[in-house]
Amino acid sequence: MADFHGSDFMLLDEELADEELIARDTVRAFVSNEFMPLIQEHIRKDGSFPMELVPRIAELGLFGANLHGYGCAGLSNVAYGLLMQELERGDSGLRSFASVQGSLCMYPIHAFGSDAQKDHWLPKMAAGEAIGCFGLTEPDFGSYAQGMRTRAERSGGGWVLNGTKRWITNGSLAHVAIVWAQTEDGVRGFLVERGTPGFEAPDIKGKFSLRGSVTSELYFKDVEIPEENRLPKAEGMKGPLSCLTQARYGIAWGALGAAMACFEEVVEYTRTREVQGGPLAGKQLTQQKLADMLTEITKGQLLALRLGRLKDAGKLHHTMVSMAKRNNVDIALQIARNARDLLGANGIVDDYQAMRHMVNLETVRTYEGTHDVHTLILGEHITGMRAL
Ligand SMILES: Cc1cc2nc3c(=O)[nH]c(=O)nc-3n(C[C@H](O)[C@H](O)[C@H](O)COP(=O)(O)OP(=O)(O)OC[C@H]3O[C@@H](n4cnc5c(N)ncnc54)[C@H](O)[C@@H]3O)c2cc1C
Repeated sequence: MADFHGSDFMLLDEELADEELIARDTVRAFVSNEFMPLIQEHIRKDGSFPMELVPRIAELGLFGANLHGYGCAGLSNVAYGLLMQELERGDSGLRSFASVQGSLCMYPIHAFGSDAQKDHWLPKMAAGEAIGCFGLTEPDFGSYAQGMRTRAERSGGGWVLNGTKRWITNGSLAHVAIVWAQTEDGVRGFLVERGTPGFEAPDIKGKFSLRGSVTSELYFKDVEIPEENRLPKAEGMKGPLSCLTQARYGIAWGALGAAMACFEEVVEYTRTREVQGGPLAGKQLTQQKLADMLTEITKGQLLALRLGRLKDAGKLHHTMVSMAKRNNVDIALQIARNARDLLGANGIVDDYQAMRHMVNLETVRTYEGTHDVHTLILGEHITGMRAL
């Protein structure tokens, strides 16, 4: 697997602090040297993640890297974004693993948990000794998650949980599931530990996309949860939605990694592929496609960097994240599709990356708010009207 250089057409490296560049380059080398040699084998097996890398991912400080305390790296949000970019350059499944652990599981414990919950879970999760999953989506409620049917009823001093969650990344790998459920007081979050009677997490098989990632269902049948396992400061849909803003922020960067991987691969390929007496790269139609790719990557980088600086300054609004997630995933998917096209028949086999990134990006376009859902969030922001 060739090394990865990344694209920096507008000299944005000059805008990055030394710690941000070091963090990015360290993860770049990890992905090239330790992840890429394993990915093909895991993609060929449906729903398999290289769990042997978890201690290294933790050692590199990639779990909850922008959180402070509890063994977390406490990096800037720009550094965190660059890490997500590098991970997704490897595979969206690798970035998903880190996003779910950090943004969807450690973040809610950090933001909404009790001191006991933070002390118990966060150091273990930062060290990769405990894996988490985030259960919001249900078979009948994805974009409209507030319609969820999973319900927790008070019982004695605790709760009894019933319902089904679906499409849950790392569900069967997780030691703890953050589960969002209706209660008599509205939506609340619960920490459900693996092995709790009545809780099962079978895997979903047959995926074309994110094959290097485990996706599961979560079944809860009369699962007894102690009150200590409720997130005390999470009230209503604000709880899960604030986690999604964190994860969507990382995706806005991550998608650029997938786009750059496809771009770099196809530039190299078209330089050496001969068609009709000359290299494919020398054809006008090819150059138009490559020029469009680099332009869209560069615009996406400017958006991501500005977003990160605003997040570091405490000025981020969730609609800004919607714009960046929507745009950057969309352009990454178009770049992956065009790269696959330029690779011709070679583009359909796993010796090349474009098609793997392309099918992964179909999921990334759907999860964490679909492309359409972010369109509607922006539409409401512009007009003040919630479209139905
Ligand atoms: C591999 C994978 C991993 C995932 N991991 C997780 C996870 O870890 N945790 C978790 O909780 N969830 C996870 N998800 C679920 C994901 O977040 C949902 O799939 C997503 O929210 C979309 O929901 P849905 O699939 O039910 O589609 P739907 O909501 O049914 O949407 C179907 C279509 O309708 C459109 N649509 C929806 N609402 C409107 C509207 N109001 N107006 C116009 N069009 C609309 C959508 O844009 C889409 O095109 C994962 C999904 C996948 C595929």
